[in-house]
Amino acid sequence: MKKIQSTCNYCAIDCNLDFYVEDNRVVKAVPTKGYPVNDGFCCIKGLSLDKQQKTVKPNSLPKIRQEDGSFRTVSWEEGFKHVADKLKELQEKYGQESVAGISTGQLTLEEFAIFGHVMRNFLQANVDGNTRLCMATAVVAHKQSYGFDAPGYTLQDLELSDTIIFIGSNPVVAHPILWGRVRQNQVPGHKVIVIDPRKSETAMNADYWYGLKWRSDLLLLYAVANQLIEKDYLDHEFIQEHTEKFQEFRDFVKDYTLERATEGTGLSREQILELVELIHQGKRVSFWWTMGVNQGYEAVRTAQAIINLALMTGNIGKPGTGANSITGQCNAMGSRAYSNTAVFYGGGDFANPARRERIAQVLGVDEEMLAKKPTKTYNQIIEGINAGEIKGLWILCTNPRHSWVNNETFASAAKKLELFVVQDIYDSIESAEDCTVFFPVVPGLKKEGTYINLERRLSAMRPVLARGENEISDYEAVLGVGKALGMGDALKGWETPRDCFNLMRECSRNMPCDITGITWEALENSHGIQWPYPEGREEELSGDQRRLYEDGNFFTPSKKAQFLFEEVRENPLPRTEEFPYVLNTGRGSVGQWHTQSRTREVKFVEDVSVKKAYLYMNTDLARENQIQEMDEIKVFSANGQSAVFAVKVTDHVQYEELYAPIHYIECNKLTPSIYDPYSKEPSYKATPVRFSKG
Ligand code: SF4
Repeated sequence: MKKIQSTCNYCAIDCNLDFYVEDNRVVKAVPTKGYPVNDGFCCIKGLSLDKQQKTVKPNSLPKIRQEDGSFRTVSWEEGFKHVADKLKELQEKYGQESVAGISTGQLTLEEFAIFGHVMRNFLQANVDGNTRLCMATAVVAHKQSYGFDAPGYTLQDLELSDTIIFIGSNPVVAHPILWGRVRQNQVPGHKVIVIDPRKSETAMNADYWYGLKWRSDLLLLYAVANQLIEKDYLDHEFIQEHTEKFQEFRDFVKDYTLERATEGTGLSREQILELVELIHQGKRVSFWWTMGVNQGYEAVRTAQAIINLALMTGNIGKPGTGANSITGQCNAMGSRAYSNTAVFYGGGDFANPARRERIAQVLGVDEEMLAKKPTKTYNQIIEGINAGEIKGLWILCTNPRHSWVNNETFASAAKKLELFVVQDIYDSIESAEDCTVFFPVVPGLKKEGTYINLERRLSAMRPVLARGENEISDYEAVLGVGKALGMGDALKGWETPRDCFNLMRECSRNMPCDITGITWEALENSHGIQWPYPEGREEELSGDQRRLYEDGNFFTPSKKAQFLFEEVRENPLPRTEEFPYVLNTGRGSVGQWHTQSRTREVKFVEDVSVKKAYLYMNTDLARENQIQEMDEIKVFSANGQSAVFAVKVTDHVQYEELYAPIHYIECNKLTPSIYDPYSKEPSYKATPVRFSKG
């Protein structure tokens, strides 16, 4: 029996597992002992990865839709040629930006790198990632505050912190291995604090829960900052030496009084002061945030308000501290740094002459071929399709018909496309309904490549199973279209994922995420390696747990972190008499992943999952409306759509709040086309709604 160590490609923890294989069949999957992330543990999703060994049928070939609506199965060569010809035809007819792509944080680093080369460089098209739906806010917050998209922590900080504060984050369900690290914390008297409108599974297990009103987090954070300043609970030396614009921030937050905060958040004065004291008393305070913060209409400033608290109290760059964004998907970090969408491979602006020269040199292409500007964002791509400006779309390993905010807008967009290529391991995903071409690709068990987890750790995905006839990977599908487009020498050095990894290493040289010291071989059977890891410093950086900012230097030109802030805004879509409740959304269970295309086939997940869309409703609200457990209600959204949900009655959501898991297509039928102004991440969490029974 062979043992192959590889990476779980669901969530951003990137657990490693040992797959035991006999006769090209996974006999068992065991979480890798000693791997610094998960050390012999993993969640039900990782344990069920072996179920995907049967997913792609042998002899899988592309399908092209015919005029009568049926599909014709074609050879891969014909499929590549069809897509390449159609992309060129559309560009000739409607202009360069009439074709676009949507990639994902689920792919390997090498797969979205080559997609970025073919689409962004060669075709000069727009390509965004579904990371826009989850991490764009943290990216922009990091860039503006720290000078680079560089979360500084290492997961061990959860074990070293004496005050762990989760804001809009529910790791018990969304990141169970991360929560396991919290449970391993041995610091005497350590406290776990949760700030969340819902009494989430994490809040139930915390020492303190602050159940504030929806979208009042920014107001609370500014009020807490004001109190810390008034009480002089500050690290003056750190502020002086390592930050800028603190005086302006001090003046700004004066208006965020306790009175204003109690009225806006629904928390009592005592609760807010208690939180202030908890932060002050902590010697190692760590702040952790996820989608509850990222998916809002003023999300970047909220993330930065968390960063501000860490900066002003000196809780950054030391063990057990930090303002730490928790990533969602397994390779969201890799996508941010290496997809060639918002920044060049390895970071840096598309307009930066030095970066242009360097990237062109590494890729062996003319500078003119490189992408010239950041991509149009996800919402602009969907709006562009609906406006008739974008005619061709190629999506990889993502399911926007389900996951896109206000998802009926994607449904209408899909019908307008002249070319709609869906590349996925499942042809049953909702997004494939209207595709004109389907590219079936193999699951992770049959792929090789690199992932980067939430703490900047690169790890290897290595093929566990041999591929059957005609089975190809995402990498090979994109490479095939690139060749059919006639890219010729522009694809020299891109022949395999390993070649691509070497190109990306070189692109990262001297950047904050420098990975030039990491080789393809060194990642195999390893503990993973966190960036930065520049060539020549391997010995000095040999530890398994490294954090950034230990010297107090950030990546801004002055090397100082920035206090950034802005007045709290009204929800662009406020509650009204017609829509008096608020729909919140998030994860439903540990076993279900996103749109369920993968976890639906895992029997023991499916057996315990609710089959139809449901939401949680407060006990009092249910009683007043004579609603019993699992009764059906129709929910009407201020976005003009409605959907039917079964009701689960609970005391864990507030009276005016409904909470719907994201795993059902009905959920995002109701969310609005509203975005953070800086990150363009959708505001998924606070939609005004009303409901009727029956
Ligand atoms: S889903 Fe996340 S926590 Fe679960 S096994 Fe995979 S990487 Fe680990």
